Amino acid sequence: MNLIKKLDKIFSIYIRMRDADKDGICVCISCGQRHYWKLMDAGHFVNRRYMGLRYSETNCQSQCRSCNRFDEGNIINFAKGLKAKYGKDVVDKLMIAKKTTVKYTKFEFETMIKYYREKIFEFE
Ligand SMILES: [Zn+2]
Repeated sequence: MNLIKKLDKIFSIYIRMRDADKDGICVCISCGQRHYWKLMDAGHFVNRRYMGLRYSETNCQSQCRSCNRFDEGNIINFAKGLKAKYGKDVVDKLMIAKKTTVKYTKFEFETMIKYYREKIFEFE
């Protein structure tokens, strides 16, 4: 598995475990549906092709599969959910950060993989 796929996978697990309650239940940022974390996606508000926000813990949130995969991220309600969680400026800040070009080195990928892997162990 290449580093980007490996980090995507670990980061997605981290986001969903972070958002889960003690019973492992996550609430969809866009529609409020509740599901067990393994049945959720980690959805990106700004598309993950923007590398500067691909691993942003603000840009990436637990989202139900129906919103993430079939409703184009249910983006209007995603914005509402983000503002409720982080304050009204959050969307503007993400839009500015979106313009930043980021290119990670192999070492940076490996460091982030290690970091999120340790975070996941802490949850377990
Ligand atoms: Zn949803």
